[in-house]
Amino acid sequence: MDDNDLGDIGFDPYEFANVIGDGDQPLYPGSSKYTMLSSLVKLYNLKAKHGMSDVCFTKLLILQEDLLPKGNTLPFFIYEAKKTLSALGMSYEKIHACPNDCILYRKNYEDSTNCPTCGVSRWKEGKDSILKEGVLAKVVWYFPPIPRCKRMFQSHKTAKSLTWHAARKSVDGQMSHPADSLSWKLVDDKWPEFGKESRNLRLALSSDGFNPHSSLSSRYSCWPVILVTYNLPP
Ligand SMILES: [Zn+2]
Repeated sequence: MDDNDLGDIGFDPYEFANVIGDGDQPLYPGSSKYTMLSSLVKLYNLKAKHGMSDVCFTKLLILQEDLLPKGNTLPFFIYEAKKTLSALGMSYEKIHACPNDCILYRKNYEDSTNCPTCGVSRWKEGKDSILKEGVLAKVVWYFPPIPRCKRMFQSHKTAKSLTWHAARKSVDGQMSHPADSLSWKLVDDKWPEFGKESRNLRLALSSDGFNPHSSLSSRYSCWPVILVTYNLPP
């Protein structure tokens, strides 16, 4: 299990409002600089950036609690800290994958231990060529988009920006936003029901480092796949 794993905690979009409410409390009575949420996000960023273990982070939270004035609102346990961040829609799932990228170990393959296509084991091989059961050979980090989309509509400012494309006046003959493009209009024509609701999200999929059949001399095995929202203003 990874040190910075938020994946084991479920996401409840309705918790978001509560967390925002709780998170707005000052870090300690009389503090105007930091709220509970802003300090927690800053601390968690440090943990992720420097690969701090859960044990170390818990000890840091305990020390902070002691250093801060009485009545402070910083979560005392890492579980609470993770739960708070997870409610913001920042959780992710780890999906086991075949080391040769044939399949993902989900649905029909959830309990399989070998790839049905290439036969390679789900588990990692140690230096002694012995399989280490439980140690994964390859993992896909999946950041579910739906909680993130919901989160966008839970902020007045972002929600307004998401429909900006429908209210703007385009300058004839100039393309300053994907909404001016032929592809955008094609979507409106082909799926009018989708097109007439300006809150519907138009997403672009992009990837970097993608190396089909290992034809490029890249040593990286990490392929970020990113969804971009075109609704937003430039
Ligand atoms: Zn395979």
